[in-house]
Amino acid sequence: MIKEKSDLLQVIEDQKREMKRLSQDASDLEIALMTAIEHGDSIEEQLLAVNESLEREANERKKAEARLKKLITALTQQKDDLELLVETITSHGDDLQYEWLERLGVAEEEALTDGLTQVSNRRHFDQYLASEWGRAVRHNSNFSVIMIDIDYFKLFNDEYGHQLGDDCIKQIAEQGKKVSVRSSDLFARYGGEEFAIVLPDTDYDGAMTVAAHLRQNVEDLNIPHSASKVSKRVTISIGVASCTVIKGADESCLLQLADNMLYKAKEKGRNQVVGFRNKTECKSNCRGIDE
Ligand code: GH3
Ligand code: MG
Ligand code: MG
Repeated sequence: MIKEKSDLLQVIEDQKREMKRLSQDASDLEIALMTAIEHGDSIEEQLLAVNESLEREANERKKAEARLKKLITALTQQKDDLELLVETITSHGDDLQYEWLERLGVAEEEALTDGLTQVSNRRHFDQYLASEWGRAVRHNSNFSVIMIDIDYFKLFNDEYGHQLGDDCIKQIAEQGKKVSVRSSDLFARYGGEEFAIVLPDTDYDGAMTVAAHLRQNVEDLNIPHSASKVSKRVTISIGVASCTVIKGADESCLLQLADNMLYKAKEKGRNQVVGFRNKTECKSNCRGIDE
């Protein structure tokens, strides 16, 4: 009987301990639940923030990818273009070189040609005179220079206008080309209404013949010039200088002599040819020029 009572007490004691443990567990759970409820909002906020930042990052990455694609497309196109260019240059190299050489030739010719008359310009005249003079010095050969000027041309312009003046200059240039028959003769527009001819290997008589032809041909053009004081048509005055070129002689001196002769032709009444005959006519300080 006693044993039964003590067993019962033991069971009661066990039940009490179990009840206490369960109560403690319930209290722990309650605390855990409260904590979860308390921090639930901030965890959700943190999760949302992380989510937003991830989305932003994904978007940025997409944009960067698109830009990169575009760049690659552009670079590929440029590479293709460059390859095509290299291929064209390689396969047409000869053609291109020929075209450039041709263009260079045209440009060089333009630089030496007078725009109005299409005859040689002053630059070409100076170059040619210097190079042919050098050759004449080496060969001790004859050399002549002719200077030409239209008579009373200012009055012509005043009377008929600049346009007809230009036409007149062109027609005289045509005659100048015509009389400069040798391949070594060079007829040029020296400036304004003045022309000049370089005549290598040509003596005084030969140069005087060329000059006389030109003067006559211009008169025969029959271009009216009612304001001229020397004729009813356009005329020219011509100065001729010739020499046998010796070492030390200067081409500018012969040019000066031709100009002096032109001045004389004007003085003597225009529409005529005056040639350099002897050294006493040389007013400049020439070295080595004599007949
Ligand atoms: P001179 O008989 O003494 O040579 O008299 P000139 O009137 O011909 O000489 P001047 O030097 O007084 O005048 C030259 C004229 O040539 C003046 C200028 O207007 C004209 N001239 C020069 N170049 C050109 C041109 O390219 N076209 C035209 N139409 N006239 C020009
Ligand atoms: Mg003049
Ligand atoms: Mg004149």
